[in-house]
Amino acid sequence: MKTIDFTKLARRNIRSLKPYEAKEIPCKVKLDANESPYSLPENIFMKKNIFRSLNRYPDPDAKELKKTVAKNFKVNIGNILLGNGSDELIYYLITAFEGPVLYPVPTFSMYGIISKASGEKAIGIPLDKDFDLDTDKMLAAVKKYNPKLVFLSSPNNPTGNCFSADRILKIIEASKGIVVVDEAYQPFSSEKGFLPLLGDYKNLAILRTLSKIGFAALRVGFLIGDPGMIKEVNKVRLPFNLNSASQALALEAFKRKKIVNSQIKNITSERERLLEELDNIGGISPYPSEANFILFRAKNANIVYHRLIKEGVLIRNLGKAIKDALRVTIGTPEENGFFITALRKSVGGKK
Ligand code: PMP
Repeated sequence: MKTIDFTKLARRNIRSLKPYEAKEIPCKVKLDANESPYSLPENIFMKKNIFRSLNRYPDPDAKELKKTVAKNFKVNIGNILLGNGSDELIYYLITAFEGPVLYPVPTFSMYGIISKASGEKAIGIPLDKDFDLDTDKMLAAVKKYNPKLVFLSSPNNPTGNCFSADRILKIIEASKGIVVVDEAYQPFSSEKGFLPLLGDYKNLAILRTLSKIGFAALRVGFLIGDPGMIKEVNKVRLPFNLNSASQALALEAFKRKKIVNSQIKNITSERERLLEELDNIGGISPYPSEANFILFRAKNANIVYHRLIKEGVLIRNLGKAIKDALRVTIGTPEENGFFITALRKSVGGKK
């Protein structure tokens, strides 16, 4: 058989690209992926008869779901594009609007990965010492590169803070391109977010997702913005990008808003408890959070990370992005308790 060097066949910019890493290390307590620890108390699959029409393609426009999303976010249907997770929408945005992509670092890694995969210039500007936007440097980059897209994850993954609203506004005002405020973690934040400002800025777009509030498996994300922008992005959308099961189950998810909101409340109150607990452990310095996870620094973070796995807890090691930093997702009270006990054990003892 012929030998083929597939790397050589790949696009030049793909050859050195590193794929998104989602390590599946089996652990008793999984607190690494910013998922909700709660599922719904009932089996919503049983409620739907979608399984009687699996031979048919799904509704290509997901009309029913779009109507519900529009009502929920108080926008028009023309303001919305649905994606197979917000990841897919990030891909579509970068595909549709050719040109440099700007974002602060550290942040959600897919902005950079997709930009590079698409052959676009990816510009990462370091956050300031408080993990806020470095306005001067960001504005200088806007001026220099004239990015078609700026991605601002607020609350930011992995730092957990919201960026100052006035700094975000300065960037929106200075940009000729689109500023995407990625609000994947907004449901956990005390700030009101940027949806109410959509009418004021044509170049503002918002990303939301069902993934962090209990439905990561469905892969449903929302892009909300000016109808003209949505129309352009829709041109690169793959047909039937949202399957029937996801459309139907996302609708059921919206119907259970009350349960979902009470789960979010549990998560945010557990977050505050966990912050205090972390603060009381020697060698551990947590950062405040507006999201469903906490970033903390730990002495010998890498060793602590591996010890936690041995104890049965998987969290995220951010060593590459932020020195000595680890990120833990808020779990159920029991999971958080298990994590704290394991962490106390893991920071003590010999190296
Ligand atoms: N944006 C941010 C800031 C995220 O952290 C994530 C998930 N890690 C996503 C988008 C993607 O979410 P999804 O594709 O599951 O909607």
